Amino acid sequence: MVHAEDRLRLATAVAEARAGLAEGGVPIGAALYDSDGTLLGRGRNRRVQDGDPSLHAETAAFRAAGRRRTYRGTTMVTTLSPCWYCSGLVRQFGISRVVIGEAATFHGGHEWLAGHGVEIVLLNDLECTAMMRDFIKLHPDLWNEDIGEQLPQPARRPHPHH
Ligand SMILES: [Zn+2]
Repeated sequence: MVHAEDRLRLATAVAEARAGLAEGGVPIGAALYDSDGTLLGRGRNRRVQDGDPSLHAETAAFRAAGRRRTYRGTTMVTTLSPCWYCSGLVRQFGISRVVIGEAATFHGGHEWLAGHGVEIVLLNDLECTAMMRDFIKLHPDLWNEDIGEQLPQPARRPHPHH
């Protein structure tokens, strides 16, 4: 069920993504909210900025929230469908809801999460989609590195025979 606040919460994640883009990073942002709407933590993908491939937007927001006894009732808001790594984080810690800006440019683990009882809200946000499309077009290498895709090897020139 889409809550009225979900769009506002997405704006926090989008602001993080845009800040990351301005820093030369991968424009993915996230924010973790408590069930009462309190912002617990927010963050962005910092692969480029920190040289740390483990700092995805969701993990950055999760770490910013600090230690908690339980994640029941919390909502992870992210601009992009979560990768397997971040989907694993949601499942591991029992985060109840995930609000996703878009899943058009990257189809992550949200259906797997839904199959394990996590409430998924896919907003199909056009701003999020356009932001990722533009980034992937400009930086295909960086994007493939981030999602762990192997690029096809360039065709080798045959050795000349003598
Ligand atoms: Zn991730």
